[in-house]
Amino acid sequence: MQLTDTHIHLNSAEFDSIRQDLIDSCEKRNIFRFIIPDVNLSTHNLNYTSAFSKFYYAIGVHPFFICSSDRLTEQLVDAGRYIAVGEIGIDLRKKLPELPDVELQINAFKEQADIAKNFNLPLIVHCVHAHDLTTGILKKMNFRSGGIVHGFTGSCETAREWIKLGFKLGIGTAAAAARGDRLRRVIGSIGIENIVLETDAPNPRLSPEFKDSIPECMMKILSVVSGLYHCDINETAYLIEENINRTFLI
Ligand SMILES: [Zn+2]
Repeated sequence: MQLTDTHIHLNSAEFDSIRQDLIDSCEKRNIFRFIIPDVNLSTHNLNYTSAFSKFYYAIGVHPFFICSSDRLTEQLVDAGRYIAVGEIGIDLRKKLPELPDVELQINAFKEQADIAKNFNLPLIVHCVHAHDLTTGILKKMNFRSGGIVHGFTGSCETAREWIKLGFKLGIGTAAAAARGDRLRRVIGSIGIENIVLETDAPNPRLSPEFKDSIPECMMKILSVVSGLYHCDINETAYLIEENINRTFLI
């Protein structure tokens, strides 16, 4: 079995003291590929290596960081080896007043998605309370490179909108949560060909002992998903890996 964490901020400072241990611990649980999304144009200097694992990078400015002067440019994308543009998106949570103005978020999203389109790169999308808006923008710009809508917790209708646009749903810890029944029904109804797995680490829902909680978290999500599809765990992992290979051409 091989597994890919399709959304892990491995360059986060919270991992500085345990990064190698974390990678070793993931490898022991068959997690051999890591997709590292960017938040503030800081993935360009990353070049992690390991005898067994592979590391893939995306580049982009997360909605939390678009107020800064950092802007994604075609030159930056051209200068690195990126498998995607991300994580970019729109977050309309009212409880987070520090979020940039909606117009600013929309413009930054469009600008970055446009660059991805020019490079035929998929997107890693952060989308909170903004699914209609975000899918509407992508439809209007005729975006066809697909990608992942990460940390998906939306409805069946929303899932289908993203799938129609060629996106996979990034399924994370919410699928294994006690209150995740609705999401589990959505996952069960949309077909295994439409999902990928992620931890979104270091997210606060994982315990502070990241080194062990990350691989455990991946195994737990995999086991929930395999149960929902009534599919053997190895076969589930294989099919999901195929989804990732097709999405990112890796
Ligand atoms: Zn993230």
